[in-house]
This record gives sequence, C-alpha cells and structure tokens, in this order.
Amino acid sequence: MSKSMTTKITPQPGILDIELYVGGKAPAQGVANSVKLSSNENPHGPSKAAREAYRAQADFLAVYPSSDHGALRAAIADVHDIPAENIICGNGSDEIISFLCNAYAGIGDEVLFTEHGFAMYRICAQIAGATPVEVPENNRVTDVDALIAGITENTKIIFVANPNNPTGTFVDSSELARLAAAIPQQCLLVLDSAYAEYVEGYDGGASLVTAFDNVVMTRTFSKVYGLGGLRVGWAYAPQAVIDVLARMRGPFNVNVAALAAAEAAISDREYLDKCLIENKKWSNYLVTELNALGIQCDPTFANFVLARFASEEEANAAERALAENGLIIRKVGSYNLPQCLRITVGKGVDCQRIISVLRQFQEARA
Ligand SMILES: *Cc1c(COP(=O)(O)O)cnc(C)c1O
Repeated sequence: MSKSMTTKITPQPGILDIELYVGGKAPAQGVANSVKLSSNENPHGPSKAAREAYRAQADFLAVYPSSDHGALRAAIADVHDIPAENIICGNGSDEIISFLCNAYAGIGDEVLFTEHGFAMYRICAQIAGATPVEVPENNRVTDVDALIAGITENTKIIFVANPNNPTGTFVDSSELARLAAAIPQQCLLVLDSAYAEYVEGYDGGASLVTAFDNVVMTRTFSKVYGLGGLRVGWAYAPQAVIDVLARMRGPFNVNVAALAAAEAAISDREYLDKCLIENKKWSNYLVTELNALGIQCDPTFANFVLARFASEEEANAAERALAENGLIIRKVGSYNLPQCLRITVGKGVDCQRIISVLRQFQEARA
C-alpha cells in the first residue's frame, strides 16, 4: 500500500472537493513569436517609474517591509479620494477575497455569485467551508434580480465582478446601488473591481462603500498597472470590516519591492492613460473584426474579449490553430462557457495576428 493511502492526516471537510485553479497557459517552448494572451496582463508592462522603484529595493532586501503599508495606502487614498484608514492591502486581491470568505462565511453559510463568476469566489468559499451558490446571468451580463432572488437566510457574502471576467460585460452603478439597497444588512456585498480602470468615469463602486455598512470594493495592481507578478491588491471597506481583516492579515503580507512598485505605478497617471487609450483602440478592433468574421463577441468593458464560437468543438479547434501560431489564449470551459475563448487585448501587432489566424480558420471551415 502506498504511503498516501494509509495517511491519517485529513483536511477539513470540503477541501478535497476543491477543483484546482487552472491559470492561463504560458507560451509554448519552441514556437516562434509566442505571446501569452491568457491572463489579462498588460501587454506593455508596468510604468518605467514602477520598474525603477522595484529595482531600487534590491539594496534593501534584508529589511522587513512596512507592516501598515502606509505609503501605498496614502497614494491609493490620494488617487481615489477615499480615506487611507479604510484601505487594506493584500498579496493580490485574491488574498483579500480569501480573508473575506474566511472571516464572514463558514460551514452552513452560502456565498453567492453569478454563473460565469470569477473562479476564486468558489474556491475561497470552499476553503472557508461555506457552500458556493451560482445564479444565472442574463446573456452573460450580471442579473441583479437573479442575485436578489438567490439570497437566503444563510447568504453571507455576494461577489460581483464588474466588469465581469471572463465575459467582459458591465452593469452600471445604479444597478449595483439597487443590489446594495436590496440585500439584508448582515450580508456582505463584495464588488470586485479588478477591471474598473477600463471603464471611463466608473469609481469601481467606491461611492457604495462610502454609503453602505456592508459593501466592500476590491482592486488590483495585476491588470492595467501591469504588476501581476508582484501580487498587490487592495480593498476599500467600512471600518468594521477593516478591523476584522486587519486581524487576519499576516503583518508582512506585501513585500518591499511590491509596495514600492505599486506606489510608483498608481502615481503615474500619464502612463495609465496611455495604456487605456491603447486598450480601447485594440479592444474595439478585436470586437469589430471578430464580428465581421462571423464570430460573435459582446462589446467589452475590460482588457479582454470573449469570442463565441458555434460549438465547443469549434472553440477547441480555434484554440489549437491560435496555439500553433504562438498565440496563447484562454479556454473558459470551467466558467460554463465551453464554446467561448477569452482573448487578452495584446499589443496591436498581436491583435492583428489573432484576427489573421482566425480569418484563415473561418475560411477553412466555410
Ligand atoms: C485578475 C482578477 C483579479 C485580480 O487578482 P489578483 O489576485 O489581484 O492578481 C480579481 N478578480 C478578478 C475578477 C480578476 O479577473
């Protein structure tokens, strides 16, 4: 009998039900010009100021990071015009999602999200021992009425990503306000605003956090700020929630280089604007060209598009054709979208390569 079959060491109930998170694939070895468009990373990388701030920390690596993240929180507070004491930083926003589930949901509790919701909601609910509950979307758009209908006396947390991943769709603030007003006061609404920067004039739900005692907004440096590799995220939350999360957080959960780079990144508004302009240009191009090729695609509010094929088999064949040409994109079968492929908006040349490969693909099938 193998060692693992005799072990008496067992995890908490539910842990072995968790399906491993599968991230975006990395570029294939040996394929020329391979490019990763599978994890919604900024194809232009972080601002020069952020890279310099990161390098400058190389001379101070023996020293523990700031435990209160004061400088980074001040920079965030300044840009978003919110109080620094209501901000908490995490090792990616994933860590904050995990803190929220562990703090507010347990065995017998329900964590609510939509049918194509971000994978970490389910995983973190399961880690906490809670029951993940999915409600339908309305043609790939968050359906506030379905969320309200899904609330039971056991619902403790509702997660809404807006813009949503992997659909790229968006509901406006008035819909979120309607949701916040409708939920029971003992139920927490978490607005995951990982892609909020891409929506002009959208505050990511910050004003709802200010207005309600039970609304939290999470943000990340992994997407438009181009720092996915460093793992920095943050939340804006009511004081009572901050007091809870502060107790769960490891004192040094964000490292020195990440803190310095994130502070520089959020302060470089000029670079942010440039990235947003490029993204708008090439996301429009992808949506228009995909539709022209007969591949359905909703308008996107983020830095990726969701291409809808006639069938799962077609989507898989298109994924293979793109991979053979060095274009690595994301299959989204695990998001209940097996006939779709999620494509990160890359540099212009790479978006053109995507369309060129898919044009040949469609012609070969016609
Ligand atoms: C990418 C993403 C995040 C960010 O995760 P980090 O841990 O901050 O890298 C959070 N929510 C959604 C919906 C995302 O797509």
